[in-house]
Amino acid sequence: DVTVGVLALQGDVREHLAALTAAGAEARPVRRPEELAEVDGLVIPGGESTTISKLATAFGLMEPLRERVRSGMPAYGSCAGMIMLADKILDPRAGQETIGGIDMIVRRNAFGRQNESFEAAVEVAGVEGGPVEGVFIRAPWVESTGAEVEELAVHAGHAVAVRQGRLLATAFHPELTGDHRVHRLFVEMVRASAR
Ligand code: GLN
Repeated sequence: DVTVGVLALQGDVREHLAALTAAGAEARPVRRPEELAEVDGLVIPGGESTTISKLATAFGLMEPLRERVRSGMPAYGSCAGMIMLADKILDPRAGQETIGGIDMIVRRNAFGRQNESFEAAVEVAGVEGGPVEGVFIRAPWVESTGAEVEELAVHAGHAVAVRQGRLLATAFHPELTGDHRVHRLFVEMVRASAR
């Protein structure tokens, strides 16, 4: 079966490994370029996107990540991972870079102070069986998308799940809910690209 890595620099790596395993993939952490080379797909976890960005650069992973995404490796980013897959961030911190790949502009910490963390039922196109429980933690939203980007879910008027080809991103954290449907969707994308 397919091997799916989780970028293990910072963030909720363990939860994604567990969700991928439950979704039927062989899951393993990725910290080094040699480990990246061995996976069929990659999850970029939730956490803090500035920290993930700086560590990726420090560990010599930023260019290899861009290279693999450019050459078609499936990738899924949740929350901070969504930010990492955005071609553009509205308000980057100094030195903050992204891997990019999804033609979208993302606003960090978009839902604002009094609503920094919340849960909401989110209907996700391509996920059958009713809405997923969206856990939003200082979550970004998608400010705008290019023509190639499919908006899979909208909350409060903003896209919170998108797909462009083999790249998937959610502003929320399905890895924290025990509902593995979003991970199953991604593992299916990895299987399809490995065939
Ligand atoms: N606010 C965080 C960031 O900008 C993302 C939060 C999360 O991943 N839960 O990276």
